Amino acid sequence: MQAGSQEWQTLLSEEALRMGLRLDPIALGRMARHAQVLLEWNRTTNLTAITDPVEVAVKHFLDAILPSAHIPTNGQLLDIGTGGGFPGIPLKILRPDQPMTLIDGSRKKINFVKHVIRHLGLENIEAHQVRAELLCGHPENQGRFAIIVCRAVSDLSAMARLALPLLAPRGRLFLYQGPSDAPRRTDGGTDFGQGMTVQASVQYRLPILGDQRTLVVLAKTGNEN
Ligand code: SAM
Repeated sequence: MQAGSQEWQTLLSEEALRMGLRLDPIALGRMARHAQVLLEWNRTTNLTAITDPVEVAVKHFLDAILPSAHIPTNGQLLDIGTGGGFPGIPLKILRPDQPMTLIDGSRKKINFVKHVIRHLGLENIEAHQVRAELLCGHPENQGRFAIIVCRAVSDLSAMARLALPLLAPRGRLFLYQGPSDAPRRTDGGTDFGQGMTVQASVQYRLPILGDQRTLVVLAKTGNEN
């Protein structure tokens, strides 16, 4: 099977539907193009270690979108450490109207993400080569984001500290976690950095592969100094 082929799109759409998510033809076509360009660029630019077409569908696209019902569709969304555009680009494809900012410290990854944005004709989305630590050094970014998403960048406490100044009051951080980065506690404790508390922990399994995943939701409490 070729990534992005009709067969690949059928697999993606059937597995998403099985998990309660209907992908329209425009969204499917965009995800297919993202997957194709990802693997094309990956031959010369190191973007992802996942290159098997089924794994690309499951570990990149389905993982990004399956827990999306828990992520609000209103408000400015920031994806920290987006890499090849995950989870930001698949979320944007599902929600064309939601304003989004994707950042990564790596120039080559952001060049790729900018190419995908142009290639797919996505609007109301920005991509910047910047580390999260530097983004909050600009006053206009402090408290700017209602939603921050992040997958496979750093541990829970470090991400909570990074996200805190960027989050709007009562903003939320959504951490996509695999089995290797299970948090120490997800039961509503407040030990993940001053001003952040764990609000929810959503477990799901990746289709076909069966791997366990968790979406940890941290909320800004408003108690930070
Ligand atoms: N989120 C993508 C995914 O799940 O496929 C990429 C994950 S990759 C393992 C981690 C990415 O985070 C890399 O592209 C790296 O450059 C970026 N990164 C790490 N720390 C960062 C920081 N403090 N600010 C911005 N980007 C960061």
